[in-house]
Amino acid sequence: MHLQYGEAEEAFRAELVAWLEEHAPSRDLLREPRLSSANLTDWGRAWQRTLFDAGWLVPGWPPELGGRNATAQEQMIYFEELSKRQIPRSLNPQGLGIIAPSIKDYGTPEQREKFLLPTLRAEIAWSLGMSEPGAGSDLASLKTRAVLDGDEFVINGQKVWTSGAHHSDWCLCFVRTDTEVPKHKGITAIIVDMKTPGVEARPFAELTEPDYMDFNEVFFTDAHVPKENLLGEINGGWPITQGSLAHERAMLWIDYAYSLARAVDSLKVLGKEPGADGRPLRDDPKFRDEVAGFAVDAQAIMLMGYRGFSKFMAGKSSPEHSLLKLYGSEALQKALQAGAEWQGPNAIDMDVAGPQMWREGSWIIQWMRSFSGTIPGGTSEIQRNIIAERVLGLPRK
Ligand SMILES: Cc1cc2nc3c(=O)[nH]c(=O)nc-3n(C[C@H](O)[C@H](O)[C@H](O)COP(=O)(O)OP(=O)(O)OC[C@H]3O[C@@H](n4cnc5c(N)ncnc54)[C@H](O)[C@@H]3O)c2cc1C
Repeated sequence: MHLQYGEAEEAFRAELVAWLEEHAPSRDLLREPRLSSANLTDWGRAWQRTLFDAGWLVPGWPPELGGRNATAQEQMIYFEELSKRQIPRSLNPQGLGIIAPSIKDYGTPEQREKFLLPTLRAEIAWSLGMSEPGAGSDLASLKTRAVLDGDEFVINGQKVWTSGAHHSDWCLCFVRTDTEVPKHKGITAIIVDMKTPGVEARPFAELTEPDYMDFNEVFFTDAHVPKENLLGEINGGWPITQGSLAHERAMLWIDYAYSLARAVDSLKVLGKEPGADGRPLRDDPKFRDEVAGFAVDAQAIMLMGYRGFSKFMAGKSSPEHSLLKLYGSEALQKALQAGAEWQGPNAIDMDVAGPQMWREGSWIIQWMRSFSGTIPGGTSEIQRNIIAERVLGLPRK
């Protein structure tokens, strides 16, 4: 399922596919349990470095930054081919996908030298300190305070949900530097060394995977950070929050479309299992109807993504992009929930499912994990608000 591209684009695809076939990590490595989203294992570092050296890490960027000046169409092909094969570019996605572009766009030459190349080459790992106990959807309400004292910022406050903080070397942290101006105008981005005295990351367990501990609370108590670690301008953090996240979201729909297509394939396999009446589930018209619906959703997300992309390329506005995160993440969640429901009590019966219940591939685990698509980067409710106000032009109240 992909667009008809021109000859040059298909040549790009062929070169990429041939390269992936030779260099991509083995399925066994890809399936290895990971400790957090900032835990760069040996093979993860080596893989990211291989991508970087070959110009396949960030193809839209120039060669000296791990790219090959790829066009927008070529970048879409790139993300499609990786999604199809479920190959991650990095084991520290926030570092590569959000923080590296922020440093590229807003960093000083010294910061680019110190942080950008080591991030791209997987020599350092990052966390992203945005959310706080009282500031998630309403990020502009963040309260962690930084006060400039001579050549240092002194930071006090608390972050939460900070993925991988306990394994990260650095954190791109958003702090309040002015309380007198409108909320979003008093926020500053600061690069914090996680070994700084007064910075404490406390990881907490997740329901879905006892061994995978990604979330953290991060506490700042009189943490002194050099002024040179300021990213962008003082009180200029808000555009960084918006710009960097947009980089990451632009092609997310491709992952949703392929994940949903894979869920449909798994549902078809599940269809061979006996239902409550002893007959295969696929003989039940309701089951068939649901699976067909998800197959249509997968195609629709892909086509809507292509349409939004074509409009974007033609310089037109593309409301499709506002819809895709909501549609993609929720359709996938419904398909995974359907799998767990059709599996029946076995889905949660440890005696039947055994340790497998907690493993990759179990319907119930995949469904629980799917909430990580409908919450970060703007929850589904926030997406609906955006669509209502900006796409449909409905009144705010
Ligand atoms: C897997 C995962 C990884 C994450 N990683 C990070 C990370 O690395 N760094 C980081 O800083 N944060 C991270 N987060 C946090 C994430 O950004 C927040 O969870 C998200 O912004 C929502 O904020 P909240 O949890 O405070 O919920 P809240 O904003 O408190 O929302 C609670 C509920 O109220 C609803 N709601 C809120 N406002 C409105 C409104 N105006 N209209 C209608 N409904 C509303 C929400 O939709 C939600 O259902 C991560 C979250 C997840 C799930």
